[in-house]
Amino acid sequence: MNMDIASDEMTLFRDMARRAFEQEIAPHFESWEEDHLVPREFWNTMGTAGLLCPDVDEAYGGAGTAPHVTLMLIEELSRMGFGGIATGYGIHSNIVAPYISRHGTEEQKQQWLPKMVSGEAFGALAMTEPGAGSDVQGIRTSAVRDGDEWVLNGSKIFITNGIHADIVVVAAITDPGKGAKGTSLLLVDTTLPGFEKSRKIEKIGQHTSDTAQLFFQDVRLPANALLGEENRGFVIMMEELPRERLGIAAQAVGAAEGALDITVDYVKERKAFGQSIGEFQNTRFKLADVKTQIGLSRALYEQCADEYAQGALTADKAAMLKLASCEMQCSTIDDCLQLFGGYGYTVEYPISRFYTDARIQRIYGGFIRNHARTGLRARCWGARALKQRVLLAGATGYIGSRVARELLTNDYDLICPVRDVSSEACDTLRAFASDCETGSLHLLAADLQDPENLDRALQEYRVDVLVSCIASRSGGVADSHQIDYLANHYLLQWAVKSEVKHFTLLSAICVQKPRLAFQFAKLRFESELAASGLSFSSVRATAFFKSLSGQLQRVSRGKPFLMFGDGTLTRCKPIAEADLAHFIRLTLESDALKGVQEIGGPGPAISPLEQAQLLSRLTGQPLRTKCVSPKLLRGIAALLDIPGRFSKGIADKAEFVRIGHYYATESMLHWDKDQEAYDADATPEFGTITLEDSYRAQLAGAGDQALGDQAVFR
Ligand SMILES: Cc1cc2nc3c(=O)[nH]c(=O)nc-3n(C[C@H](O)[C@H](O)[C@H](O)COP(=O)(O)OP(=O)(O)OC[C@H]3O[C@@H](n4cnc5c(N)ncnc54)[C@H](O)[C@@H]3O)c2cc1C
Repeated sequence: MNMDIASDEMTLFRDMARRAFEQEIAPHFESWEEDHLVPREFWNTMGTAGLLCPDVDEAYGGAGTAPHVTLMLIEELSRMGFGGIATGYGIHSNIVAPYISRHGTEEQKQQWLPKMVSGEAFGALAMTEPGAGSDVQGIRTSAVRDGDEWVLNGSKIFITNGIHADIVVVAAITDPGKGAKGTSLLLVDTTLPGFEKSRKIEKIGQHTSDTAQLFFQDVRLPANALLGEENRGFVIMMEELPRERLGIAAQAVGAAEGALDITVDYVKERKAFGQSIGEFQNTRFKLADVKTQIGLSRALYEQCADEYAQGALTADKAAMLKLASCEMQCSTIDDCLQLFGGYGYTVEYPISRFYTDARIQRIYGGFIRNHARTGLRARCWGARALKQRVLLAGATGYIGSRVARELLTNDYDLICPVRDVSSEACDTLRAFASDCETGSLHLLAADLQDPENLDRALQEYRVDVLVSCIASRSGGVADSHQIDYLANHYLLQWAVKSEVKHFTLLSAICVQKPRLAFQFAKLRFESELAASGLSFSSVRATAFFKSLSGQLQRVSRGKPFLMFGDGTLTRCKPIAEADLAHFIRLTLESDALKGVQEIGGPGPAISPLEQAQLLSRLTGQPLRTKCVSPKLLRGIAALLDIPGRFSKGIADKAEFVRIGHYYATESMLHWDKDQEAYDADATPEFGTITLEDSYRAQLAGAGDQALGDQAVFR
């Protein structure tokens, strides 16, 4: 470690820490391990001894040291075999305090940092949820703005320090529909009404680190609880990952060194075949190997710590450090335990605790979170060893533009043939791509209905996979043939010729019971795609939120909710546009999602009447509905059919009315052919954002949810 940065203070703190840990932890450690908890006062004792958050600025009560000192304290705790305490300490001093120091307002720093230094306030970081671990983009906990307050709802799991925490940094969705870009961080005081902590979660190791589930039910937070800017939570979490990973590496290196020390002592004492086992050549080779492995990790760790202090540590390098040091920790401690023979497997010998404490190190700190943006991706992401080049057709359309953002955020290179490269939609995409640190975007002018033009436009491009999100705008008979069938047909021809590896088609769940021109066109293409021999996914999506949001403003203004029949003729499991885009991306990454894929949102199935009830509850307006007979639409379509024989425009209008009638009478659910009935349970669910989340956000003025083009309801 760079001694210029930390030499004197390092020695001072190390001596102080060793004495304090020997005195304050060692005598009680066994009983705390049995209790699976350290007493809360222990953290006050650490604060009084000046050992909490040493690198917090002096202005906020800290010692203003280099970050190396905090890392060294984590190392020492780990070396002494106090792995669980090292984790709790690291979350408080190495993660939560830096989050507040680096992203908090002056008021937040004044409010929390001095208390964190003294131990009066103990910190936790809550990202993980039952449905969002490695994939932090799946977070469902939401914070909705209500006047001067945020209202927090949701739950978190596996939260270190969850039981003792006084202040928790919580990641929550503040703008549903925007995925990671709609995530914010909130500083949550655990004494607020609606905040609940579960029992401790029992683990196989690190017993002194308390791990809990947290629940938030209408927790009202002041507006100034926001940590960093609104909707920048994901960016902040990414920015702070290098420090989190450094802390984990400090634990890994410290623990491995501690395990080696006790192993060297043991092999000197233990005799077998008339000599100490340390004299066997195998033991010496093994220990030399262990020492070398630790030395390599230590060298990288110290280099990274210096780079972090100088503001030069990259996310990639920190991820490599985390991966290498945690694997080193687990394998070297396993080798050490082996040298203890059967004694190593008993709880009486501390090496067994080093062993069980180590295992979690390769899990927390994230999986994708660690590796997604590193050169190590080949190892973790299987098929995505190299950047994938995607031809995305329909990138300026409603779902296509969301798929484009999803793919860019996840580091794909996009080639998007569009009608007009200077359109507003293209400008929006370009702006998104230039903000996005990952992926790349190439927009090129091409006519998808002209195969020669398409060939010319794409001749210089090599593409790995193709995603088609094109759909006719009007749903008219001719348009459906031109776009839903013919343009896709040309794309498929090009894909086969260009040896594209996979073709994902955005289809619709309603094609399973076809009656409309666009459904027949989609089905015709789908069967061509299946027969092409190309690997493919046809995503038969249910209704997305746009189509269910058209009446939100009507109802907010006190107008009745318009529905067909008694409002129970149909049901659907709507899906958020962001979740649908996520699913489409996964079809490029997972073999399990090949073939025809029906897909709905996170359920349960909802009828128009239930939507009306939901909107009434959320807007505070009394439930008012107005029923329209679907027969009316059938009558209009029949009337238009006659002049439609002579006019394409009128024929399209008739088809449009038929589409309205179809949606008024058919559910967007799996159709069970044998039972001749829709089956909500058999409609697969995907995603995390519920319709209620989306309505709430839209009512609070958040979200980028476009309102539905429901002309009949205007
Ligand atoms: C003791 C302990 C302490 C913790 N402390 C905290 C804390 O303080 N705060 C907090 O927010 N969280 C905490 N966590 C949660 C921890 O960060 C998560 O458990 C971790 O991110 C993994 O998430 P998961 O458990 O949901 O696993 P999943 O996301 O379900 O992943 C399981 C496995 O699936 C595989 N996998 C997942 N995605 C992919 C993919 N795209 N490609 C290939 N393989 C994949 C990997 O092998 C992965 O290990 C803690 C967990 C434990 C056990």
